[in-house]
Amino acid sequence: MHDILPPDTTLWSRVETMVSGIFARYGYEELRIPLLEKTDVFTRAIGAATDVVEKEMYSFEDRNGELLSLRPEGTAGVVRAALQHGLLYGSPMRLWYGGAMFRYERPQKGRSRQFHQMGAEVFGADGPDVDAELIAMGERIFSELGVRGLRLEINSLGTRSERASYREALVDFLEAHLAELDAETRTRVQRNPLRVLDSKQESVQAVLAEAPLLTDCLGDESRQHFEETRSLLDSLGIDYVINPRLVRGLDYYSHTVFEWISGDLGAQGTVCAGGRYNDLVELQGGKPWPGIGFALGLERLVESVRLGGAPAPDAPHAYVVMAGEGCLAYGLQVAEHLRDELPDLRIICNAGAGSFKAQFRRADRSGARLALVAGESEREADTVVVKHLRDDVPQAAIARRELGSWLRAWLEKQGPPAGGAGRAR
Ligand code: ATP
Ligand code: MG
Repeated sequence: MHDILPPDTTLWSRVETMVSGIFARYGYEELRIPLLEKTDVFTRAIGAATDVVEKEMYSFEDRNGELLSLRPEGTAGVVRAALQHGLLYGSPMRLWYGGAMFRYERPQKGRSRQFHQMGAEVFGADGPDVDAELIAMGERIFSELGVRGLRLEINSLGTRSERASYREALVDFLEAHLAELDAETRTRVQRNPLRVLDSKQESVQAVLAEAPLLTDCLGDESRQHFEETRSLLDSLGIDYVINPRLVRGLDYYSHTVFEWISGDLGAQGTVCAGGRYNDLVELQGGKPWPGIGFALGLERLVESVRLGGAPAPDAPHAYVVMAGEGCLAYGLQVAEHLRDELPDLRIICNAGAGSFKAQFRRADRSGARLALVAGESEREADTVVVKHLRDDVPQAAIARRELGSWLRAWLEKQGPPAGGAGRAR
């Protein structure tokens, strides 16, 4: 479980703001759900034989003997909440959520025990138009964030009964090859055979080369849904690869499933994953109601944005230097008045006193472009001396009542933020 520190937090909040902005532009509304749920919210939805439920959940009994779990993902809780508050069974509903998730995983690059997701869900529409629009929204998130080089993989898992007949074919095949599989994979063959397809081991993948494909077990309706989804993606100019072995780690998926995978993040390269889950509402105790969604892994997304050349965090515009008799009050007042007048101004005041020399050194390290000197003679004359720290412009004393408009004009000339090149802590 990691702390996220400045200046990384600046990049995190920029990414979160951009993603939630894109969700809003597509008509998604935010839902906030608790970090803790009754354990069976997850076991019912995700599936008792999945890695997440079998080995990864943080579960405990509360004082009343009720079994609770920290949420390992968002969708199960969203469905629980949507059912509980009557959000379903009307016109289609687009929802998004974000926040921390918890899984007891082996910590490694790209995997932590507390991680963060932002996810989108659509309820009440089962057509391929929604699949395509959701995927287009994912593409837009990456393009607007400047993340390039992701591979979009898609597949269809068909319906529950199609998966059941495929499962039999797959188990028959795997049982004929048990001798070539390791012990862990052999237990999977019994407990959750579809997950074998997802194995990262080369020896297992070699066996799978000859395995039957789910695609061959799909009925006409499922095929048609997948074909239409693909043709809508084609008409939107979205590139994808069909991966007939793509399955998801949670049991509730059906029909279209997809992942965006980065080649730049190492072994854990999936930045976003999702799919349709037309059976999930029923699994959670409701009348059947279709759904589809995805979850972005924020750690991996932020890392991808960084690799794509994210701009450095914004340095302050101005640093208030205040040394001398009565100058603390004077400097703080100057800064507060400027904050009243110019909400876009990033201004920091020197903290911890110090000589003029020491304060100018801190001003320089802050990355600010201007030092606003509020010393004794300035206080007496009711002026502030503006010193340009990065530009070859002579300093000037400016009357306090004119300082706001002077800075407004200066800000307009600045254009995009100066960047954090000079920043150090
Ligand atoms: P995997 O097969 O890699 O374990 P998963 O099926 O568990 O994946 P999902 O539950 O679909 O993954 O989660 C969606 C996204 O959330 C992932 O693609 C990833 O970006 C992120 N994610 C999942 N688990 C972790 C983790 N432990 N640490 C960091 N990010 C994670
Ligand atoms: Mg996992």
